[in-house]
Amino acid sequence: MIQIEAVSFSYPGAARDALHGLSLQIRPGSLFGLLGPNGSGKTTLISLLTGLLPLQRGQIRIHGQALPAQAGAIQNFSALVPQEYAFYPRLTVMENLRFFGSVLGLRAADLRERLDTALNAAGLASFVSVRAGHLSGGLKRRLNLAIGLLNRPRLLLLDEPTVGIDPQSRRFILDTIREINARGTTVIYTSHYMEEVESLCDEIGVLDDGCLLAQGSLEQLLNRDADHGLRLTLGTPPSAAQQAALRSVPALEIADRELHLPNCNAAVLQHLLALLAANGLHASRINYGYGNLEELFLHLTGRQLRD
Ligand code: ADP
Repeated sequence: MIQIEAVSFSYPGAARDALHGLSLQIRPGSLFGLLGPNGSGKTTLISLLTGLLPLQRGQIRIHGQALPAQAGAIQNFSALVPQEYAFYPRLTVMENLRFFGSVLGLRAADLRERLDTALNAAGLASFVSVRAGHLSGGLKRRLNLAIGLLNRPRLLLLDEPTVGIDPQSRRFILDTIREINARGTTVIYTSHYMEEVESLCDEIGVLDDGCLLAQGSLEQLLNRDADHGLRLTLGTPPSAAQQAALRSVPALEIADRELHLPNCNAAVLQHLLALLAANGLHASRINYGYGNLEELFLHLTGRQLRD
């Protein structure tokens, strides 16, 4: 279990906290998606979890070990795949892996096995002799991932590992993460790509301005506001007479073709559908709760542009 309790973090000289009283629990074995706009605090949080930044306020326990006292033990069973390329561009793929593997202090036979596993998991077996700096963007990301896998982490933290890469490498990386998680590794995956988080993660936390706005499974998040209610799009805008008929449904909001009904239960829904049919109207789309993660995300974090 990863327990994050009332964690705040402020960069030196910064006017605002990068994290502000953040509390979050992540269960072991989870494939946890940490979603947030740029600057929301994702990188800061995973840097704290991996001991790259010092804990200033609050408490963090990872699989029973507390930070900062047990930072070394935590680093032994965890790996961070950072956003930046974390390898030597002038060394080949194999030289990089050998170097990072040797840092782990493994015996030769163990090291060879780990190198093979990491190369295969990241799909790099045919690129071993290529200089890392000459790899395509997608292959560079895969090398980052391979290096992260060398210590067979029980906790894998990935900071936006699919930014700016081709669809094939993206698919490959996502499939690899799924497989690693299926074999028991807890994964924390930060991203601002909603579809990735939707399809990949069994639990999602939404961060903004250093605070956790929501946490739960996709289904829980999409149904979290009972009063978000029913949204229905009509095939054609209702005439004045049709609108008057619809207004017999208490609390129904009508805006052009869009109808919104907060707190809609089954009886009210039946009444509304009957009313539409009786007045020659039909629904082209019906949504209950939020249609997808992006709608919820924009609702929670607002629509203003971020840097
Ligand atoms: P994200 O990963 O979600 O984009 P970050 O954790 O990188 O967010 O940033 C959170 C906040 O901390 C932002 O306001 C950012 O500008 C600020 N920040 C990040 N790194 C530094 C730094 N090294 N020095 C000062 N402020 C920083």
